[in-house]
Amino acid sequence: MPDRVRYSVVVPVYNEEAVVAQTYRRLKAVMEGIGEPYELLFVNDGSGDRTGAILQYCAEMDSRVKLIDFSRNFGHQIAITAGMDYAEGAAVVVIDADLQDPPELIPDMIAKWRQGYEVVYARRTSRQGETWFKKQSAKLYYRLLRASTDIEIPVDTGDFRLLDRKVIEELKRMPERNRYVRGLVSWVGFSQTAVDYARQERAGGISKYPLRKMLKLFLDGMTSFSTKPIKLASVGGSALAGAGLAYGIVAAAVGLAGADVAALHYFAALQLLLAGVVLIALGLVGEYVARIFDEARGRPLYIVRACYGMRKQDFKAGR
Ligand code: UDP
Ligand code: MG
Repeated sequence: MPDRVRYSVVVPVYNEEAVVAQTYRRLKAVMEGIGEPYELLFVNDGSGDRTGAILQYCAEMDSRVKLIDFSRNFGHQIAITAGMDYAEGAAVVVIDADLQDPPELIPDMIAKWRQGYEVVYARRTSRQGETWFKKQSAKLYYRLLRASTDIEIPVDTGDFRLLDRKVIEELKRMPERNRYVRGLVSWVGFSQTAVDYARQERAGGISKYPLRKMLKLFLDGMTSFSTKPIKLASVGGSALAGAGLAYGIVAAAVGLAGADVAALHYFAALQLLLAGVVLIALGLVGEYVARIFDEARGRPLYIVRACYGMRKQDFKAGR
């Protein structure tokens, strides 16, 4: 009987034949160093190359390696979710397969976890070997997301993080389909902290995040945690309607004072007013849609960390 798994490392992989064997070796070295039972949980997200074969071989040779093989490409966030569903550890680390996230940081994360933190996310202080466009778009992405969402999503952190079992169990209770895992992790709360690192260059292969996937991720992040864009419509509409009204009043006043006001001005005022009203109405519809969306997501209403002084304690400690 193998010991109970204490640490699970979840690795989403998509067409990473150039690096995945190396990733396995580095993860293994780091996890062996910790000296407690662990599992390496690879999620093969429908790779079309030799990634699956390499990982199958690893799983045959090493009983600590487990492989979840998707039937097709479902996407990074879904792969992470599957890994969390299957993970058995008391702490779960999610890490990219391309070694941009250094496995050597995991012991630091575990140290923080032992201090009692339930989420330890890795924050990038710098990025190496990435294009100017990638760096700038990432920077803009995190800032824009922070500005537009209602929860605190830490900037410059990816999915490289350690999660306590309690957090994993909460994430499993979230049925939403367009998942933005980082946002969900912020949403569930618990005590969270960061460790800093310099993001490395890819160890091989190319980025699996084309612009299309980045956009999808951004939209998922924004729509899952924000209704601000909808409010923008109402605010813009009110401004337009106000301007139209003012325009009309001025035109009428000037006309009443005896000056010759061209009909164009009245039409312009009316046009502004109408556009404003339509936008306000859109914003109003949006508010209802947002509420429907909120209900449809079916997130838990609240999350309890622990109960004290109660007879029935069905709360199970993660460690
Ligand atoms: N990935 C995945 N499914 C996808 C795209 C990416 O599982 O559809 C994995 C990929 O193999 C890697 C991680 O997600 O382990 C991050 O992807 P990548 O390194 O290409 O993103 P970048 O670092 O360029 O943002
Ligand atoms: Mg990468």
